[in-house]
Amino acid sequence: MEKILFIINPIAGKKAGKNINQDIIRYLDTDKFKPHFKYSEYAGHISEIAKQALEEKYKAIIVVGGDGTVNEAARVLVQSNVPMGIIPSGSGNGLARHLKIPLTIKGAVKLINKMQILQMDAIKINNMYSFCVAGVGFDAEVSRMFQKMEARGLFSYIIACLRCFNQSKNQNFIVQTKEKEYRLNGFMLCFANASQFGNNAYIAPGADVSDGIVDLVLVKKPSYLQIPLFAYKILTGTVENHSLYNRRTGKAFEITQENDFAHLDGEPTIVGTKFTVTVEEKVLRVIY
Ligand SMILES: [Mg+2]
Repeated sequence: MEKILFIINPIAGKKAGKNINQDIIRYLDTDKFKPHFKYSEYAGHISEIAKQALEEKYKAIIVVGGDGTVNEAARVLVQSNVPMGIIPSGSGNGLARHLKIPLTIKGAVKLINKMQILQMDAIKINNMYSFCVAGVGFDAEVSRMFQKMEARGLFSYIIACLRCFNQSKNQNFIVQTKEKEYRLNGFMLCFANASQFGNNAYIAPGADVSDGIVDLVLVKKPSYLQIPLFAYKILTGTVENHSLYNRRTGKAFEITQENDFAHLDGEPTIVGTKFTVTVEEKVLRVIY
């Protein structure tokens, strides 16, 4: 019998209820696996639990939470060989949705029983990891606003978007690659490992988490009239041909921005006005 650790973030989203451990036990193949449960109690606790868990030789470490929670565990598990599973219970669940992990506890646990592994890439912003999507500009401002709001969930997220939209404008970015320097102007610049932010908002349709490539997406600020079509195209994965949208790919960039902050998988953080974006290939084993 092999032991599996479930790290539960009780405040991620609303779905991770009190009795989630019983739901997990109900669907877990307990002939094969013995579940252990740990609950995060403060910011940074998930990384600490994951670090300690690496010494305790679990067969797999499963994160119950959203993209922020997944990031906290994954940044410890990279390069470790211990596979990470996800039971999605955040507000966006971008990485889980990208990997087509079921959003129900039952479906997600049944996937864990099969233990099928994908070796996925990680994006590095300076020395910090992003596994889903990172970015600067509008979406970083939204993540900042969202973090300050008391209520989580999709509704609060939409409110944060609306509030930021008025204040946010196009800014100048310099994107430096090995070969060339691009001077760009846009509303947001995203670094995508996965294809979506979460909630099926496809910022980089076609992005692949294990191709060793960063999808770099520039979006110009839409006018109010352009928002409905642009939003429709984002939500249907057809944004690629929109006039406000531009996508490049690469393995390493140096970015100059007007602000000094970014978001990494939805969590705001300071990166400076000049920072690097690189990719580490196939460094995280994920159950999918
Ligand atoms: Mg990729």
